[in-house]
Amino acid sequence: MDVVGGFRRSMKLAQVIESDLNRLFVFRTEDGYSVEAVHYRGDTLCVSTQVGCPVRCLFCASGKEGLLRNLSEEEILSQVESVKKILPVSRVAFAGIGDPLANWREVKGSFLKLREMGIKASFYTTGFPLENLRELLHLPHNGVSVSIHSLNPDTRKHLMPFSGPLEKLVKFLKEELPRLSKRKRKKVSLAYLILKGVNDSDRDLEALSRLALDLDVGVTLLYYNKVGPFEPPSEEEYERAFLFLKGKGIRVTLSTRFRKDKIGGCGTLTVGKVA
Ligand code: SF4
Repeated sequence: MDVVGGFRRSMKLAQVIESDLNRLFVFRTEDGYSVEAVHYRGDTLCVSTQVGCPVRCLFCASGKEGLLRNLSEEEILSQVESVKKILPVSRVAFAGIGDPLANWREVKGSFLKLREMGIKASFYTTGFPLENLRELLHLPHNGVSVSIHSLNPDTRKHLMPFSGPLEKLVKFLKEELPRLSKRKRKKVSLAYLILKGVNDSDRDLEALSRLALDLDVGVTLLYYNKVGPFEPPSEEEYERAFLFLKGKGIRVTLSTRFRKDKIGGCGTLTVGKVA
């Protein structure tokens, strides 16, 4: 049996759970963990890159237990290969369980294989290690969203207890983004999850808009699927934040209905250990 970095290679599809919008695929690793991937929008698969997540964001179910182990390149690709047998997959989002930059060697290997297969890939990351982010930004990706969620360092630390320091991330982006072509920079955005009463004041949104304008990038405004101790905004509050940023001249992308779905929506994916 093949072993990569001390763990085995393949994963088996164990279960499929469907809603009207999404299909959630539960995979089982050979050492008894379960991880999840989500098929949405007819042709896109959101894949997991780690068993658990070291960043442990308070608003996300995936990081509750911290990091249990990394997935190998083969395990990441096997999510795509299994689903492709049943459904079309022309895009992959490295946005499931785990932070892709925290398992970069395996993620980069799987990204390059997906490119060879003609599959486009986008990434969601908290941005660290920064040297991995630098490499990613220069690769032929189809989108990189860097999670900000608050520009108040204390609030951010509370929300994302094990993410890298905000000031280092901002400094890095200010230095690195001007090195990208305009076309490439358009594919980079700041991800901001709106949490009622936490990071949604005019002052918070003003700070976010200043950073987005300064970096000349768009904002992906994420809707919170309630899996932690916070409250989601009402539809009106969510729209208000959108209009606030639009009013400052920022390109804003909103969470689609797929990402808000109870089955497979953002932040809802979980890991398990089979006894
Ligand atoms: S939101 Fe992303 S980085 Fe944060 S715990 Fe969940 S998977 Fe990890």
